[in-house]
Amino acid sequence: MKILVTGGCGFIGSSFMELMLDKPDVSIVNIDKLSYCSNKNICKQYGDRYELIPSDINEIANVLNEKYSDIDQIFHFAAESHVDNSISDPFPFIESNVTGTFRVLEYARKHNKPILIVSTDEVYGSLSLNDKPSTEKDPLKPSSVYSSSKASADLIALSYFRTFGTKVIITRCCNNYGVNQYKEKFIPTIFNSLKNETKIPIYGNGENVREWINVLDHCEAVWAASQKGRFGEIYNIGSGYECSNLELVKKAIKVWGADESSMSFVKDRKGHDVRYSLDSSKIKKETGWSPKYTNMDAFVELASGMWKK
Ligand code: NAD
Repeated sequence: MKILVTGGCGFIGSSFMELMLDKPDVSIVNIDKLSYCSNKNICKQYGDRYELIPSDINEIANVLNEKYSDIDQIFHFAAESHVDNSISDPFPFIESNVTGTFRVLEYARKHNKPILIVSTDEVYGSLSLNDKPSTEKDPLKPSSVYSSSKASADLIALSYFRTFGTKVIITRCCNNYGVNQYKEKFIPTIFNSLKNETKIPIYGNGENVREWINVLDHCEAVWAASQKGRFGEIYNIGSGYECSNLELVKKAIKVWGADESSMSFVKDRKGHDVRYSLDSSKIKKETGWSPKYTNMDAFVELASGMWKK
């Protein structure tokens, strides 16, 4: 089986590629523009089962010639992914997440390839602390340019299924944790601050709640959805484990052996959503997937050990 991965040098895409290349009969073509957060050396040990095409996905029609006609399936991870960057400079989010996804969909349509679009819980917008978890049928109410660009991509993808019959599946996952996450994200920020003995910046009052999943569970779920999911459907991927930013920081501080003077409450992020939470019963029921690595405290301990080295 030959798969096309977009954004495979990112945090989640690289984990997905490793999972796939562990299967002896899989080979991968990865299109990634190699941006500031990319892991450029990933998967080199897999020899000719792995090929990196260093390109923007907006060039997909030009860089994938007939040599790649044997691709069986597309996994679309590439995106600008950091909300804060979408506040300081929104345009790259439109170029990569909206126009870029459109071009990958066009490739899938023209070459009749099944495509799985990796999306996010953020498209549902903010929940209050008492709201029920979001289901796939809930309306989209994105708050940031990041989440609205992802919601736009989801809608275009669904229209490709409806209008052209393109074999589209969408997955929407909660916050991921795992090794090799780029330093701009929350968990690396916490441990880099502890290591450098600088204050850990916490937006607002720190009460914002996120659902957290191990990146390996996310990748297994993407694979399960691609193999057992139905075209034209959306699948939420969550762990059921929710915690506030403040709780997470306090856990890290305790494991590190620091005290709460390491925290600094900073001006809240513009449009900061209070809570995301997913109802993931559909993917569990239809594919049999369920999360395996459900102990986030164990990861916080592992991360602490890694940063101390
Ligand atoms: P990341 O920022 O770590 O990696 C993104 C990768 O995509 C990078 O290697 C980058 O170079 C590449 N890329 C971006 N724009 C591109 C373009 N125009 N052309 C080619 N390559 C491009 O992101 P991530 O955290 O690994 O997220 C991967 C996907 O998962 C994204 O679609 C994101 O929206 C989604 N997602 C992430 C999370 C999370 O917690 N990180 C949660 C849910 C969904």
